[in-house]
Amino acid sequence: MVKPQPVNPDLKLLEILPGYLNIMGYVDESEVNGPGCRAVIWVQGCLRECPGCFNPESWSFEIKQLIAVDTLVQQILSNPRNQGVTFSGGEPFWQAPALAEVARRVKAAGLNVMSFTGFTLEQLQSEQAPAEAEDLLEQLDILIDGVYVQPLAIHSPDSLVSSSNQRVHLFNPAFKDQLTWASDQMEIHILKDGSRIVTGYRGQMNLAEETR
Ligand code: SF4
Repeated sequence: MVKPQPVNPDLKLLEILPGYLNIMGYVDESEVNGPGCRAVIWVQGCLRECPGCFNPESWSFEIKQLIAVDTLVQQILSNPRNQGVTFSGGEPFWQAPALAEVARRVKAAGLNVMSFTGFTLEQLQSEQAPAEAEDLLEQLDILIDGVYVQPLAIHSPDSLVSSSNQRVHLFNPAFKDQLTWASDQMEIHILKDGSRIVTGYRGQMNLAEETR
């Protein structure tokens, strides 16, 4: 059998127009993906293929849902219950330029921003980092870094990370007393088209067909 060629994310990302994001999903008013009540953006595309990944549907770099940064920012800000935004995935830092713009604009409106990443902070600060990673880092209040390593999995409702190699970087000390979102609770969001997003414990997102 011919082994599939590795994906070059830089080539696939060229298919995304400037000012747009390729996302897997979006919800408002999540309380299990960071401090307080927040919007969550799951970006599409990740190279790592970690065994036990909670969102394998996010691995492909094919276009899933293109959304303009303008539209996304409007959607986030139109819900007054959103106090912040969380970037999850997929790998947010492959789409760092557009996410940095989202972050800048929601922060200007008083919201906070957090991101998960499979990279380590040191990798994101190195010359091998994805384009404009440093720009996105500068916008973040909180970063949770590191791949999910199944043998190091933590099955505790009190843990902020899914495996013990992952780290919480608190860039904004104002949140030091708010690192309490981890729980064993799940959320089910019913979208306007009738589909559902299940998210929560261990940060996973599952899309399910309407079961009305
Ligand atoms: S880095 Fe995250 S999204 Fe990517 S494969 Fe690993 S667990 Fe899944």
